[in-house]
Amino acid sequence: MPASIPPVVICDQATTASERVAKEIADLIRSRHEANKPTVLGLATGSTPIGVYRELVRLYREEGLSFSKVITFNLDEYWGLESSHEQSYRRFMNQHLFEQVDIPLWNTHVLQGKNVNPSLECQAFETKILAVGGVDLWLLGIGNNGHIAFNEPGSSVDSRTRLVNLTPSTIVANSDGRFFKDPQDVPRCALSAGIGTVREARRLIVLALGEGKASAVQNALEGNFSPDNPASMLQDHPHCTFVLDKGSSSALNKN
Ligand code: PGA
Repeated sequence: MPASIPPVVICDQATTASERVAKEIADLIRSRHEANKPTVLGLATGSTPIGVYRELVRLYREEGLSFSKVITFNLDEYWGLESSHEQSYRRFMNQHLFEQVDIPLWNTHVLQGKNVNPSLECQAFETKILAVGGVDLWLLGIGNNGHIAFNEPGSSVDSRTRLVNLTPSTIVANSDGRFFKDPQDVPRCALSAGIGTVREARRLIVLALGEGKASAVQNALEGNFSPDNPASMLQDHPHCTFVLDKGSSSALNKN
């Protein structure tokens, strides 16, 4: 049985879903900015959040949304890639968001996937999150196999940031032409925030777009709370919402 079912918002289209998520992030940044407080955001990479970042950049350019007091932490990074590699998540974030807005780059934290001791790098990441008072809002995608960040099936509910192995299905999913061209090129390991790390954020938004995510979303919301299905382990978070489009919500029991 599910532990409980997080609220679900179903939007007509992927763009509407992305804009809705961007608006919540922007409202949070504005209210904290007015109170002269930083906003600590957890962010994700992949195809899913691109529309959210596009809308945040528009809000910065056209509606004066300032990121000058925003601090960010990203979910994960491929192990073995330099930050400058064209498929690194540091590069993705710089391109899609950080270099497009007024965020000070030193406020952005993406794990380093090369030339570091992995356990020290992961510990430092957790320590920095604690030092800024925890994450206010973490935006998450969901993998076809239910992974959250690179917490593949089998990850424990209290897992912390660590070096993990990617499953064959994730390697294939990330080499379908969107990112790496060939599965051979996809790193076999990554540094990933843990399920326990993510669950400590005060607000979670899981964004899932397209029919390809329908079964992962159904398992996350209606399946058992289980490490076999990492996204299900967000079911009992007190402030987690799934934002979906028609495709990703299509397998849900709508009653
Ligand atoms: P995607 O990946 O946004 O590229 O579909 C999501 C994920 O694997 O978490």
